[in-house]
Amino acid sequence: MSSRITHTFMELVQIDSESYAEGPFLEYLKERFDGLGLELDEADSTAETGLGSNNLIARLAGDASIAPLFLSAHIDTVSPGKGIVPVIRDDVVYSEGETILAADDKAGIAIMIEVVERLREGRTRHGPIELVLTPGEEVGLLGAKALDMSTLKAKHGLILDNGGPVGGIILSSPSMFSLNIDIHGKAAHAGLEPEKGISALVIAAEAIHQMKLGRITEQTTANIGKISGGTGSNVVMEHATLVGEARSLDHDACVEQVAHMIETFERAAQNHGGTVDIKQQQMIRSYRFEEDEPFVRHVSAALAHTSFPVRYEHSGGGSDANVFNEFGKVALNVSIGYDAIHTVDESIPIKELEDSVTFVLRLIETMQSFQA
Ligand SMILES: [Zn+2]
Repeated sequence: MSSRITHTFMELVQIDSESYAEGPFLEYLKERFDGLGLELDEADSTAETGLGSNNLIARLAGDASIAPLFLSAHIDTVSPGKGIVPVIRDDVVYSEGETILAADDKAGIAIMIEVVERLREGRTRHGPIELVLTPGEEVGLLGAKALDMSTLKAKHGLILDNGGPVGGIILSSPSMFSLNIDIHGKAAHAGLEPEKGISALVIAAEAIHQMKLGRITEQTTANIGKISGGTGSNVVMEHATLVGEARSLDHDACVEQVAHMIETFERAAQNHGGTVDIKQQQMIRSYRFEEDEPFVRHVSAALAHTSFPVRYEHSGGGSDANVFNEFGKVALNVSIGYDAIHTVDESIPIKELEDSVTFVLRLIETMQSFQA
């Protein structure tokens, strides 16, 4: 482990930062960025998010005639993420096996730090660079959702938070809504006077039977994934709770599917004299870029120039990129080399860390020719 970025990465993953406990890691990063001469802008977001730290923007000054660029990574990790011990085998970093590695997303942060180090050492002419560090990504993109996007000067940027070898660019990601459904019926003795009861389970069954679920269209899916309720075999079920979701690459289709699910539950409840309470929440909002979108072409050119084959990907899940794109930025989530995230087998080849730096530096260098 001779390279500086490897050393940085190994250090970062050893500072615990599970979601809701990001505080000490953010303090470490503030010190490190301050040492690199960056201007720190810590937003007061914990009151809104309840997370362990605020959002942080760290700015590297640059030539104002060049379009500014942001680079973003999240500082929180999933669990088990406490006491991570990184080990290197055949130039690949793993955890010791009891925890995740936290390359998701500390690889992204290590890449940012190395990029800034190189820019400070070199003579590359570059525009203003904004590093955006968000907590609470893994628990619903909470940090990004609380970020005031107008505080970012850059309109274009990279989210350094996708797996697979350097070269991948996510062009689309779905909208997703979660549904929490509470069905209220009426309890009664199931043997003595069942006719006085209203079964929440029967309401649920009727609704689900009439509902479009599974794959709705090529772009849209829906699911009821959990059901609980009831007290015993001799009681008509008074209350049932269900959890479901809908996702679609087409935001309007997703909204329509959610409305269909709600209506169907309400109709079934009405048919049986029960009631239903449904809470819907938009978890992520879809985005879609075409291959000829100017920034997509620009990033692709930087990859091609550094000889990384470009792969356009369509994600089934969300990332901070959804939030940046929803609120007016052009954010491309790019592959930074990690694998098997959210498992104890998570890993990242050292070469991918170094390749990411090569690619990002090339992008920064070519921003002077970028016209949005
Ligand atoms: Zn991540």
